[in-house]
Amino acid sequence: NLATSEGEILGYLYSKGIKPDGVQTLDKNMVKMVCREYEVEVIEADPIKVEDMAKKKEILDEEDFDKLQNRPPVITIMGHVDHGKTTLLDFIRKSRVAASEAGGITQGIGAYQVLVPVDGKSQACVFLDTPGHEAFGAMRARGARVTDIAVIVVAADDGIRPQTNEAIAHAKAAGVPIIIAINKIDKDGANPERVMQELSSIGLMPEDWGGDIPMVQISALKGENIDDVLETIMLVAELQELKANPDRDAKGTVIEAGLDKKKGVVATFIMQNGTLRKGDVVVCGEAFGKVRALFDYSGKQVNDAGPSIPVQVIGLSGVPLAGDEFEVVGSIDIAREKAELRAELLRNERISVKAGDGKITLSSLASAVSSRKLPGLDLHQLNIIMKVDVQGSIEAVRQALEVLPQDNVTLKFLLEAPGDVSSSDVDLAFASKAIIFGFNVKVPSSVKSSANNKGVEIRLYRVIYDLIDDVRNAMEGLLEPVE
Ligand code: GDP
Repeated sequence: NLATSEGEILGYLYSKGIKPDGVQTLDKNMVKMVCREYEVEVIEADPIKVEDMAKKKEILDEEDFDKLQNRPPVITIMGHVDHGKTTLLDFIRKSRVAASEAGGITQGIGAYQVLVPVDGKSQACVFLDTPGHEAFGAMRARGARVTDIAVIVVAADDGIRPQTNEAIAHAKAAGVPIIIAINKIDKDGANPERVMQELSSIGLMPEDWGGDIPMVQISALKGENIDDVLETIMLVAELQELKANPDRDAKGTVIEAGLDKKKGVVATFIMQNGTLRKGDVVVCGEAFGKVRALFDYSGKQVNDAGPSIPVQVIGLSGVPLAGDEFEVVGSIDIAREKAELRAELLRNERISVKAGDGKITLSSLASAVSSRKLPGLDLHQLNIIMKVDVQGSIEAVRQALEVLPQDNVTLKFLLEAPGDVSSSDVDLAFASKAIIFGFNVKVPSSVKSSANNKGVEIRLYRVIYDLIDDVRNAMEGLLEPVE
Protein backbone atom coordinates (compact mmCIF):
# COMPACT_ATOMS: atom_id res chain seq x y z
CA ASN A 1 0.00 0.00 0.00
CA LEU A 2 1.20 3.43 -0.85
CA ALA A 3 0.72 6.26 1.61
CA THR A 4 -0.15 8.50 -1.29
CA SER A 5 -3.41 9.58 -2.81
CA GLU A 6 -4.65 8.21 -6.07
CA GLY A 7 -4.68 11.69 -7.51
CA GLU A 8 -1.05 12.22 -6.75
CA ILE A 9 -0.07 9.02 -8.52
CA LEU A 10 -2.23 9.92 -11.48
CA GLY A 11 -0.51 13.28 -11.55
CA TYR A 12 2.85 11.59 -11.51
CA LEU A 13 1.88 9.29 -14.36
CA TYR A 14 0.57 12.24 -16.38
CA SER A 15 3.89 13.97 -15.87
CA LYS A 16 5.52 10.93 -17.46
CA GLY A 17 3.20 11.12 -20.44
CA ILE A 18 1.03 8.17 -19.35
CA LYS A 19 -2.71 8.81 -19.29
CA PRO A 20 -4.50 6.14 -17.29
CA ASP A 21 -8.27 6.38 -17.70
CA GLY A 22 -9.07 5.65 -14.07
CA VAL A 23 -10.14 2.04 -14.36
CA GLN A 24 -7.22 0.75 -16.32
CA THR A 25 -4.85 -1.57 -14.52
CA LEU A 26 -1.28 -0.42 -14.59
CA ASP A 27 1.13 -2.78 -16.23
CA LYS A 28 4.07 -4.11 -14.31
CA ASN A 29 6.55 -1.57 -15.60
CA MET A 30 4.29 1.32 -14.68
CA VAL A 31 3.84 -0.08 -11.18
CA LYS A 32 7.58 -0.46 -10.84
CA MET A 33 8.07 3.09 -11.99
CA VAL A 34 5.57 4.45 -9.47
CA CYS A 35 7.13 2.38 -6.69
CA ARG A 36 10.57 3.68 -7.55
CA GLU A 37 9.29 7.24 -7.46
CA TYR A 38 7.70 6.72 -4.03
CA GLU A 39 10.50 4.52 -2.78
CA VAL A 40 8.40 1.49 -1.98
CA GLU A 41 9.48 -2.04 -2.53
CA VAL A 42 7.73 -4.00 -5.27
CA ILE A 43 6.53 -7.43 -4.24
CA GLU A 44 5.54 -9.37 -7.28
CA ALA A 45 2.59 -11.69 -7.15
CA ASP A 46 2.91 -15.34 -7.99
CA PRO A 47 4.24 -15.30 -11.54
CA ILE A 48 2.20 -18.30 -12.67
CA LYS A 49 -0.12 -17.13 -15.41
CA VAL A 50 -3.64 -18.30 -15.97
CA GLU A 51 -2.63 -19.87 -19.25
CA ASP A 52 0.12 -21.83 -17.50
CA MET A 53 -2.35 -23.15 -14.96
CA ALA A 54 -4.69 -24.22 -17.71
CA LYS A 55 -1.81 -25.81 -19.55
CA LYS A 56 -0.70 -27.72 -16.46
CA LYS A 57 -4.22 -28.79 -15.69
CA GLU A 58 -4.90 -30.07 -19.17
CA ILE A 59 -1.76 -32.14 -19.50
CA LEU A 60 -1.47 -33.38 -15.95
CA ASP A 61 -4.19 -35.50 -14.41
CA GLU A 62 -5.22 -35.60 -10.80
CA GLU A 63 -3.32 -38.87 -10.28
CA ASP A 64 -0.05 -37.26 -11.44
CA PHE A 65 0.18 -34.69 -8.73
CA ASP A 66 2.02 -36.75 -6.12
CA LYS A 67 4.43 -38.22 -8.67
CA LEU A 68 5.65 -35.08 -10.38
CA GLN A 69 9.28 -34.71 -11.34
CA ASN A 70 11.14 -31.91 -13.09
CA ARG A 71 11.17 -32.15 -16.84
CA PRO A 72 13.53 -30.43 -19.33
CA PRO A 73 12.37 -27.15 -20.89
CA VAL A 74 11.40 -27.11 -24.57
CA ILE A 75 12.74 -24.08 -26.43
CA THR A 76 11.74 -22.42 -29.70
CA ILE A 77 14.07 -19.93 -31.35
CA MET A 78 12.34 -17.13 -33.22
CA GLY A 79 13.26 -13.80 -34.79
CA HIS A 80 13.60 -11.91 -38.06
CA VAL A 81 15.05 -13.66 -41.10
CA ASP A 82 18.87 -13.56 -41.25
CA HIS A 83 19.22 -12.47 -37.64
CA GLY A 84 20.95 -15.75 -36.84
CA LYS A 85 18.41 -18.32 -35.63
CA THR A 86 19.86 -21.21 -37.60
CA THR A 87 23.42 -20.25 -36.72
CA LEU A 88 22.51 -20.23 -33.03
CA LEU A 89 20.72 -23.59 -33.22
CA ASP A 90 23.66 -25.10 -35.11
CA PHE A 91 26.22 -23.76 -32.71
CA ILE A 92 24.40 -25.12 -29.69
CA ARG A 93 24.00 -28.51 -31.35
CA LYS A 94 27.63 -28.74 -32.43
CA SER A 95 29.14 -27.52 -29.20
CA ARG A 96 26.90 -29.42 -26.83
CA VAL A 97 26.20 -32.75 -28.45
CA ALA A 98 28.94 -35.31 -27.80
CA ALA A 99 30.99 -35.90 -30.96
CA SER A 100 30.12 -39.60 -31.03
CA GLU A 101 26.42 -38.80 -31.15
CA ALA A 102 26.74 -35.83 -33.45
CA GLY A 103 28.22 -38.15 -36.07
CA GLY A 104 24.93 -40.01 -36.11
CA ILE A 105 22.89 -36.91 -36.83
CA THR A 106 22.48 -37.19 -40.54
CA GLN A 107 18.90 -36.11 -40.68
CA GLY A 108 17.30 -34.27 -37.82
CA ILE A 109 14.05 -35.42 -36.27
CA GLY A 110 12.82 -31.83 -35.71
CA ALA A 111 14.26 -31.38 -32.25
CA TYR A 112 17.37 -32.14 -30.31
CA GLN A 113 18.44 -32.18 -26.72
CA VAL A 114 21.61 -30.94 -25.04
CA LEU A 115 23.03 -31.10 -21.55
CA VAL A 116 23.66 -27.91 -19.63
CA PRO A 117 25.58 -27.87 -16.35
CA VAL A 118 23.46 -26.38 -13.55
CA ASP A 119 24.99 -26.25 -10.06
CA GLY A 120 27.48 -28.94 -11.01
CA LYS A 121 24.82 -31.27 -12.39
CA SER A 122 23.99 -31.82 -16.04
CA GLN A 123 20.43 -30.99 -16.98
CA ALA A 124 18.72 -31.57 -20.29
CA CYS A 125 17.28 -28.85 -22.48
CA VAL A 126 15.34 -29.49 -25.70
CA PHE A 127 15.40 -27.29 -28.80
CA LEU A 128 12.83 -27.40 -31.56
CA ASP A 129 14.73 -27.43 -34.81
CA THR A 130 12.31 -25.46 -36.99
CA PRO A 131 13.07 -21.91 -36.02
CA GLY A 132 10.59 -19.15 -36.60
CA HIS A 133 7.18 -18.11 -35.46
CA GLU A 134 5.37 -19.60 -38.46
CA ALA A 135 5.77 -23.13 -37.11
CA PHE A 136 5.08 -21.91 -33.59
CA GLY A 137 1.90 -20.14 -34.69
CA ALA A 138 0.70 -23.04 -36.80
CA MET A 139 1.11 -25.46 -33.91
CA ARG A 140 -0.64 -23.10 -31.56
CA ALA A 141 -3.48 -22.63 -34.01
CA ARG A 142 -3.97 -26.39 -33.75
CA GLY A 143 -4.19 -26.08 -29.97
CA ALA A 144 -0.71 -27.40 -29.25
CA ARG A 145 1.38 -25.88 -26.51
CA VAL A 146 4.78 -27.47 -26.69
CA THR A 147 7.14 -24.55 -26.20
CA ASP A 148 8.07 -23.56 -22.66
CA ILE A 149 10.41 -20.68 -23.46
CA ALA A 150 10.93 -18.53 -26.57
CA VAL A 151 14.40 -17.29 -27.39
CA ILE A 152 14.02 -14.32 -29.72
CA VAL A 153 17.10 -13.44 -31.73
CA VAL A 154 17.63 -9.80 -32.67
CA ALA A 155 20.66 -8.80 -34.74
CA ALA A 156 22.60 -6.03 -33.02
CA ASP A 157 23.35 -4.35 -36.34
CA ASP A 158 19.74 -4.36 -37.49
CA GLY A 159 17.43 -4.04 -34.49
CA ILE A 160 13.71 -4.78 -34.33
CA ARG A 161 12.28 -5.79 -37.70
CA PRO A 162 8.77 -6.90 -38.73
CA GLN A 163 9.29 -10.58 -37.93
CA THR A 164 10.81 -9.65 -34.58
CA ASN A 165 7.52 -7.99 -33.74
CA GLU A 166 5.58 -10.99 -34.99
CA ALA A 167 7.68 -13.39 -32.95
CA ILE A 168 7.16 -11.30 -29.81
CA ALA A 169 3.42 -11.15 -30.47
CA HIS A 170 3.21 -14.92 -30.87
CA ALA A 171 5.18 -15.62 -27.70
CA LYS A 172 3.17 -13.10 -25.70
CA ALA A 173 -0.18 -14.35 -26.98
CA ALA A 174 0.84 -17.88 -25.97
CA GLY A 175 1.96 -16.72 -22.52
CA VAL A 176 5.43 -18.13 -23.13
CA PRO A 177 8.31 -16.37 -21.34
CA ILE A 178 10.76 -14.55 -23.62
CA ILE A 179 14.55 -14.43 -23.56
CA ILE A 180 16.21 -12.02 -25.99
CA ALA A 181 19.49 -13.01 -27.65
CA ILE A 182 21.06 -9.89 -29.09
CA ASN A 183 23.16 -11.46 -31.82
CA LYS A 184 26.03 -10.47 -34.10
CA ILE A 185 27.79 -8.36 -31.47
CA ASP A 186 31.05 -9.19 -33.29
CA LYS A 187 29.99 -7.13 -36.31
CA ASP A 188 31.01 -3.59 -37.13
CA GLY A 189 28.00 -1.41 -36.58
CA ALA A 190 26.60 -3.67 -33.85
CA ASN A 191 24.76 -1.56 -31.31
CA PRO A 192 23.27 -3.76 -28.57
CA GLU A 193 22.28 -0.73 -26.47
CA ARG A 194 20.13 0.59 -29.27
CA VAL A 195 18.41 -2.80 -29.57
CA MET A 196 17.71 -2.74 -25.85
CA GLN A 197 16.24 0.75 -26.17
CA GLU A 198 14.04 -0.34 -29.06
CA LEU A 199 12.86 -3.36 -27.10
CA SER A 200 12.06 -1.33 -24.02
CA SER A 201 10.08 1.11 -26.11
CA ILE A 202 7.76 -1.74 -27.07
CA GLY A 203 7.39 -2.92 -23.50
CA LEU A 204 10.20 -5.45 -23.19
CA MET A 205 12.32 -3.94 -20.44
CA PRO A 206 15.76 -5.55 -20.04
CA GLU A 207 16.50 -7.12 -16.67
CA ASP A 208 19.68 -5.06 -16.53
CA TRP A 209 17.56 -1.95 -16.58
CA GLY A 210 15.21 -3.11 -13.85
CA GLY A 211 12.75 -4.89 -16.14
CA ASP A 212 11.86 -8.54 -16.34
CA ILE A 213 13.16 -9.65 -19.74
CA PRO A 214 16.54 -11.42 -19.72
CA MET A 215 18.73 -10.25 -22.59
CA VAL A 216 22.04 -11.83 -23.53
CA GLN A 217 24.52 -10.33 -25.98
CA ILE A 218 25.95 -13.04 -28.21
CA SER A 219 27.77 -13.90 -31.37
CA ALA A 220 26.21 -17.09 -32.68
CA LEU A 221 28.85 -17.22 -35.42
CA LYS A 222 31.81 -17.07 -33.04
CA GLY A 223 30.05 -18.91 -30.22
CA GLU A 224 30.41 -16.01 -27.84
CA ASN A 225 28.24 -16.03 -24.68
CA ILE A 226 26.17 -18.98 -25.83
CA ASP A 227 26.70 -20.55 -22.41
CA ASP A 228 25.01 -17.49 -20.94
CA VAL A 229 22.00 -18.11 -23.15
CA LEU A 230 21.79 -21.72 -21.96
CA GLU A 231 22.19 -20.72 -18.31
CA THR A 232 19.50 -18.07 -18.69
CA ILE A 233 17.20 -20.66 -20.25
CA MET A 234 17.73 -22.97 -17.29
CA LEU A 235 17.08 -20.14 -14.83
CA VAL A 236 13.84 -19.17 -16.52
CA ALA A 237 12.88 -22.86 -16.73
CA GLU A 238 13.40 -23.27 -13.01
CA LEU A 239 10.97 -20.42 -12.31
CA GLN A 240 8.44 -22.10 -14.58
CA GLU A 241 8.43 -25.23 -12.42
CA LEU A 242 8.10 -27.55 -15.39
CA LYS A 243 6.93 -30.89 -14.14
CA ALA A 244 5.52 -34.15 -15.40
CA ASN A 245 4.92 -37.68 -14.19
CA PRO A 246 7.34 -40.04 -15.98
CA ASP A 247 5.65 -43.03 -14.38
CA ARG A 248 2.55 -43.30 -16.55
CA ASP A 249 1.41 -43.78 -20.15
CA ALA A 250 2.70 -41.09 -22.46
CA LYS A 251 0.82 -38.22 -24.00
CA GLY A 252 2.10 -35.26 -25.92
CA THR A 253 2.30 -33.54 -29.27
CA VAL A 254 3.55 -34.32 -32.76
CA ILE A 255 6.12 -31.75 -33.82
CA GLU A 256 6.97 -33.13 -37.24
CA ALA A 257 5.81 -35.99 -39.46
CA GLY A 258 6.27 -37.33 -42.93
CA LEU A 259 7.12 -40.28 -45.13
CA ASP A 260 10.61 -41.71 -45.10
CA LYS A 261 11.75 -43.87 -48.01
CA LYS A 262 13.12 -46.59 -45.76
CA LYS A 263 11.12 -46.22 -42.57
CA GLY A 264 7.65 -45.44 -43.94
CA VAL A 265 5.52 -43.11 -41.82
CA VAL A 266 7.68 -41.23 -39.33
CA ALA A 267 6.48 -38.82 -36.67
CA THR A 268 8.42 -36.97 -34.01
CA PHE A 269 6.67 -36.87 -30.66
CA ILE A 270 7.44 -34.69 -27.69
CA MET A 271 6.23 -36.25 -24.48
CA GLN A 272 4.40 -33.78 -22.32
CA ASN A 273 3.64 -36.33 -19.66
CA GLY A 274 4.54 -39.96 -19.06
CA THR A 275 7.03 -42.23 -20.82
CA LEU A 276 6.58 -43.73 -24.28
CA ARG A 277 7.85 -47.29 -24.78
CA LYS A 278 8.47 -49.52 -27.74
CA GLY A 279 5.37 -51.69 -28.16
CA ASP A 280 2.94 -49.06 -26.83
CA VAL A 281 -0.24 -48.52 -28.83
CA VAL A 282 -0.85 -44.88 -29.68
CA VAL A 283 -3.56 -42.78 -31.21
CA CYS A 284 -2.27 -39.67 -32.83
CA GLY A 285 -4.59 -37.22 -34.52
CA GLU A 286 -6.41 -39.32 -37.08
CA ALA A 287 -3.62 -41.91 -37.20
CA PHE A 288 -2.92 -44.81 -34.83
CA GLY A 289 -0.65 -47.81 -34.47
CA LYS A 290 1.75 -49.83 -32.40
CA VAL A 291 5.13 -48.22 -31.81
CA ARG A 292 7.52 -50.52 -33.71
CA ALA A 293 10.66 -48.51 -33.13
CA LEU A 294 11.84 -45.30 -31.47
CA PHE A 295 14.78 -43.17 -32.59
CA ASP A 296 16.29 -40.37 -30.56
CA TYR A 297 17.54 -37.06 -32.01
CA SER A 298 20.87 -38.61 -32.99
CA GLY A 299 19.24 -41.40 -34.96
CA LYS A 300 19.97 -44.02 -32.31
CA GLN A 301 17.29 -46.61 -31.49
CA VAL A 302 15.96 -46.31 -27.96
CA ASN A 303 13.46 -48.28 -25.95
CA ASP A 304 11.67 -45.41 -24.30
CA ALA A 305 11.42 -41.63 -24.01
CA GLY A 306 10.38 -39.63 -20.97
CA PRO A 307 8.83 -36.15 -20.49
CA SER A 308 9.97 -33.39 -22.91
CA ILE A 309 12.20 -35.81 -24.81
CA PRO A 310 11.72 -35.85 -28.59
CA VAL A 311 11.63 -39.22 -30.34
CA GLN A 312 10.87 -40.35 -33.82
CA VAL A 313 8.16 -42.98 -33.87
CA ILE A 314 7.70 -45.73 -36.48
CA GLY A 315 4.50 -47.72 -36.77
CA LEU A 316 1.68 -45.25 -37.40
CA SER A 317 -1.14 -45.98 -39.87
CA GLY A 318 -0.93 -42.54 -41.50
CA VAL A 319 0.96 -39.28 -41.43
CA PRO A 320 -0.28 -37.03 -38.60
CA LEU A 321 0.04 -33.24 -38.67
CA ALA A 322 2.45 -31.17 -36.64
CA GLY A 323 0.49 -30.03 -33.61
CA ASP A 324 -1.64 -33.20 -33.39
CA GLU A 325 -1.91 -34.69 -29.93
CA PHE A 326 -1.08 -38.29 -29.22
CA GLU A 327 -1.76 -40.61 -26.32
CA VAL A 328 -1.09 -44.21 -25.38
CA VAL A 329 -4.17 -46.43 -25.20
CA GLY A 330 -4.86 -50.00 -24.09
CA SER A 331 -5.29 -51.80 -27.41
CA ILE A 332 -5.22 -51.38 -31.14
CA ASP A 333 -9.04 -51.57 -31.28
CA ILE A 334 -9.42 -48.72 -28.83
CA ALA A 335 -6.84 -46.78 -30.84
CA ARG A 336 -8.72 -47.30 -34.11
CA GLU A 337 -12.01 -46.30 -32.52
CA LYS A 338 -10.51 -43.14 -30.99
CA ALA A 339 -8.83 -42.20 -34.25
CA GLU A 340 -12.14 -42.51 -36.10
CA LEU A 341 -13.90 -40.47 -33.45
CA ARG A 342 -11.29 -37.76 -33.76
CA ALA A 343 -11.56 -37.71 -37.52
CA GLU A 344 -15.30 -37.22 -37.16
CA LEU A 345 -14.89 -34.51 -34.53
CA LEU A 346 -12.48 -32.68 -36.78
CA ARG A 347 -14.92 -32.87 -39.69
CA ASN A 348 -17.66 -31.41 -37.49
CA GLU A 349 -15.35 -28.71 -36.23
CA ARG A 350 -14.53 -27.68 -39.77
CA ILE A 351 -18.21 -27.52 -40.59
CA SER A 352 -19.06 -25.47 -37.52
CA VAL A 353 -16.27 -23.03 -38.21
CA LYS A 354 -17.61 -22.60 -41.73
CA ALA A 355 -21.06 -22.00 -40.32
CA GLY A 356 -19.65 -19.13 -38.30
CA ASP A 357 -20.10 -20.70 -34.89
CA GLY A 358 -18.10 -18.93 -32.23
CA LYS A 359 -16.25 -17.04 -34.89
CA ILE A 360 -15.10 -13.60 -33.89
CA THR A 361 -16.13 -10.92 -36.35
CA LEU A 362 -16.83 -7.26 -35.98
CA SER A 363 -20.54 -7.85 -36.50
CA SER A 364 -20.70 -10.74 -34.00
CA LEU A 365 -19.06 -8.39 -31.53
CA ALA A 366 -21.61 -5.70 -32.33
CA SER A 367 -24.58 -8.00 -31.82
CA ALA A 368 -23.07 -9.37 -28.61
CA VAL A 369 -22.68 -5.84 -27.28
CA SER A 370 -26.16 -4.74 -28.34
CA SER A 371 -27.75 -7.74 -26.64
CA ARG A 372 -25.48 -7.22 -23.61
CA LYS A 373 -24.39 -10.77 -23.96
CA LEU A 374 -20.65 -11.24 -24.02
CA PRO A 375 -19.96 -14.92 -24.31
CA GLY A 376 -16.47 -16.30 -24.62
CA LEU A 377 -13.68 -15.17 -22.39
CA ASP A 378 -12.23 -12.56 -24.69
CA LEU A 379 -15.30 -11.02 -26.22
CA HIS A 380 -15.35 -7.99 -24.02
CA GLN A 381 -11.83 -7.50 -25.22
CA LEU A 382 -11.34 -7.09 -28.93
CA ASN A 383 -8.01 -8.60 -29.93
CA ILE A 384 -6.58 -6.80 -32.91
CA ILE A 385 -3.89 -7.63 -35.42
CA MET A 386 -3.09 -4.58 -37.49
CA LYS A 387 -1.19 -4.80 -40.75
CA VAL A 388 -0.36 -1.47 -42.37
CA ASP A 389 1.43 -0.19 -45.46
CA VAL A 390 4.27 1.67 -43.78
CA GLN A 391 5.72 1.83 -40.28
CA GLY A 392 4.51 5.42 -39.95
CA SER A 393 0.84 4.37 -40.21
CA ILE A 394 1.04 2.19 -37.11
CA GLU A 395 0.96 5.03 -34.59
CA ALA A 396 -1.70 6.93 -36.54
CA VAL A 397 -4.12 4.02 -36.69
CA ARG A 398 -3.46 2.89 -33.14
CA GLN A 399 -3.94 6.36 -31.66
CA ALA A 400 -7.14 6.91 -33.59
CA LEU A 401 -8.51 3.63 -32.22
CA GLU A 402 -7.26 4.07 -28.68
CA VAL A 403 -9.22 7.28 -28.14
CA LEU A 404 -12.51 5.46 -28.76
CA PRO A 405 -14.48 5.04 -25.53
CA GLN A 406 -13.76 1.55 -24.20
CA ASP A 407 -16.70 1.15 -21.81
CA ASN A 408 -18.19 -1.96 -23.33
CA VAL A 409 -15.22 -3.37 -25.14
CA THR A 410 -11.53 -2.85 -24.61
CA LEU A 411 -9.11 -2.99 -27.49
CA LYS A 412 -5.99 -5.08 -27.28
CA PHE A 413 -3.31 -4.87 -29.96
CA LEU A 414 -1.62 -8.24 -30.34
CA LEU A 415 0.45 -7.20 -33.29
CA GLU A 416 0.96 -4.07 -35.33
CA ALA A 417 3.35 -4.36 -38.21
CA PRO A 418 3.93 -3.18 -41.74
CA GLY A 419 3.41 -5.66 -44.56
CA ASP A 420 0.71 -7.71 -46.26
CA VAL A 421 -1.44 -10.09 -44.24
CA SER A 422 0.41 -13.41 -43.87
CA SER A 423 -0.66 -16.92 -42.96
CA SER A 424 1.22 -16.51 -39.71
CA ASP A 425 -1.07 -13.54 -38.92
CA VAL A 426 -4.06 -15.77 -39.60
CA ASP A 427 -2.70 -18.44 -37.23
CA LEU A 428 -2.13 -15.85 -34.53
CA ALA A 429 -5.64 -14.48 -35.04
CA PHE A 430 -7.17 -17.94 -34.94
CA ALA A 431 -5.32 -19.04 -31.81
CA SER A 432 -5.98 -15.76 -30.03
CA LYS A 433 -9.53 -15.05 -31.26
CA ALA A 434 -8.46 -11.84 -32.96
CA ILE A 435 -9.65 -9.84 -35.96
CA ILE A 436 -7.15 -8.75 -38.59
CA PHE A 437 -7.39 -5.18 -39.85
CA GLY A 438 -5.43 -4.30 -42.96
CA PHE A 439 -4.78 -0.71 -43.84
CA ASN A 440 -3.62 -0.22 -47.44
CA VAL A 441 -2.27 -3.77 -47.60
CA LYS A 442 -3.11 -6.88 -49.61
CA VAL A 443 -4.08 -10.42 -48.74
CA PRO A 444 -2.53 -13.15 -50.92
CA SER A 445 -5.21 -15.59 -52.06
CA SER A 446 -3.68 -18.54 -50.18
CA VAL A 447 -3.87 -16.49 -46.99
CA LYS A 448 -7.47 -15.55 -47.80
CA SER A 449 -8.51 -19.16 -48.12
CA SER A 450 -6.67 -20.15 -44.94
CA ALA A 451 -8.56 -17.37 -43.12
CA ASN A 452 -11.85 -18.60 -44.59
CA ASN A 453 -11.19 -22.14 -43.47
CA LYS A 454 -10.31 -21.06 -39.96
CA GLY A 455 -13.13 -18.53 -39.70
CA VAL A 456 -10.78 -15.61 -39.18
CA GLU A 457 -12.11 -12.23 -40.22
CA ILE A 458 -9.85 -9.98 -42.25
CA ARG A 459 -11.11 -6.44 -42.84
CA LEU A 460 -9.31 -4.24 -45.31
CA TYR A 461 -9.46 -0.45 -45.37
CA ARG A 462 -8.07 2.33 -47.53
CA VAL A 463 -9.44 5.23 -45.50
CA ILE A 464 -8.59 5.50 -41.83
CA TYR A 465 -12.01 7.00 -40.93
CA ASP A 466 -13.86 4.01 -42.34
CA LEU A 467 -11.81 1.74 -40.10
CA ILE A 468 -12.41 3.89 -37.02
CA ASP A 469 -16.14 4.15 -37.79
CA ASP A 470 -16.57 0.41 -38.10
CA VAL A 471 -14.70 -0.31 -34.90
CA ARG A 472 -16.55 2.40 -32.99
CA ASN A 473 -19.92 1.16 -34.18
CA ALA A 474 -19.06 -2.43 -33.33
CA MET A 475 -17.91 -1.44 -29.86
CA GLU A 476 -21.21 0.34 -29.30
CA GLY A 477 -23.23 -2.51 -30.72
CA LEU A 478 -24.40 -0.47 -33.69
CA LEU A 479 -22.58 -2.06 -36.59
CA GLU A 480 -24.96 -3.24 -39.27
CA PRO A 481 -24.10 -6.65 -40.62
CA VAL A 482 -22.91 -6.13 -44.16
CA GLU A 483 -22.40 -9.69 -45.37
P1 GDP B 1 18.22 -17.04 -39.76
O1 GDP B 1 17.54 -16.66 -41.05
O2 GDP B 1 17.70 -16.21 -38.61
O3 GDP B 1 18.20 -18.49 -39.46
O4 GDP B 1 19.75 -16.55 -39.91
P2 GDP B 1 21.05 -17.42 -40.19
O5 GDP B 1 21.44 -18.20 -39.00
O6 GDP B 1 20.87 -18.16 -41.47
O7 GDP B 1 22.12 -16.27 -40.36
C1 GDP B 1 22.05 -15.32 -41.40
C2 GDP B 1 23.43 -14.81 -41.73
O8 GDP B 1 23.99 -14.11 -40.59
C3 GDP B 1 24.43 -15.93 -42.06
O9 GDP B 1 25.25 -15.50 -43.10
C4 GDP B 1 25.23 -16.09 -40.78
O10 GDP B 1 26.52 -16.54 -41.00
C5 GDP B 1 25.23 -14.66 -40.23
N1 GDP B 1 25.38 -14.64 -38.77
C6 GDP B 1 24.62 -15.31 -37.87
N2 GDP B 1 25.05 -15.06 -36.62
C7 GDP B 1 26.10 -14.20 -36.73
C8 GDP B 1 26.97 -13.56 -35.78
O11 GDP B 1 26.88 -13.73 -34.56
N3 GDP B 1 27.91 -12.74 -36.29
C9 GDP B 1 28.05 -12.51 -37.63
N4 GDP B 1 29.01 -11.68 -38.02
N5 GDP B 1 27.27 -13.09 -38.54
C10 GDP B 1 26.29 -13.92 -38.11
